[in-house]
Amino acid sequence: MYLVLLGAPGAGKGTQAATLTKELKLAHIASGDLFRQALSKGTELGLQAKAYMEKGQLVPNEVTIKMVLDRITAPDCAAGIILDGFPRNVEQAKALDEALKAQKKGIDKAVYIKVSEAELLKRLTGRWICRSCQAPYHEVSSPSRVKGKCDKCGCELYQRADDNTETIKKRLVVFFAETAPLIEYYSKVGKLIEVQGEGSMQDIGARIIAALKVKKSNN
Ligand code: ADP
Ligand code: ZN
Repeated sequence: MYLVLLGAPGAGKGTQAATLTKELKLAHIASGDLFRQALSKGTELGLQAKAYMEKGQLVPNEVTIKMVLDRITAPDCAAGIILDGFPRNVEQAKALDEALKAQKKGIDKAVYIKVSEAELLKRLTGRWICRSCQAPYHEVSSPSRVKGKCDKCGCELYQRADDNTETIKKRLVVFFAETAPLIEYYSKVGKLIEVQGEGSMQDIGARIIAALKVKKSNN
């Protein structure tokens, strides 16, 4: 299965992708994580992305599309993927469709995790992430058991450089202007599933799984 996760920054794409990856045995491809890895390794790609990420802007399509399309041709993606953070605008969605079509594949469903703007702001300002396994925590709603340490792997938690109020606001503006049109893009071709993204992590995960199964057996 080829899935796209759509949602504003803070909608819970990363959290839900981690659950879905396990349940559905798919590879999790997060474009933001690919950029952050490149950045921490100091590669050319990382350097190209850095300034855009810090400002909350999209990294240019030519860089992003190549990075993701290269990644999804790796052997671990053959059984299916969950794309988290890509596509983020119509041009990226079209490039993805073309690349998959060339392999006689296609996106099965796009899951839009819908969350109010007030809730998004609240979530992003208290977000902490594991340096090693990327597991997300929130200082109020889902703190780690030991302060500053990941429950899953024990590694150090950190706050992303772009999780500050000013950059968060910019990322939300970019989402509504550039990424939200993808809701229509996938809805037009009957691939959109919209899920209410407020509530417990488990409930939201269960909603997504239920929606995917219903739609699948109806096909
Ligand atoms: P979030 O969804 O919380 O904003 P991500 O980790 O998905 O976080 O992305 C962080 C940053 O990486 C974005 O603000 C952007 O600069 C860059 N980025 C990630 N994915 C893309 C993409 N598909 N196209 C362009 N830039 C991207
Ligand atoms: Zn961890």
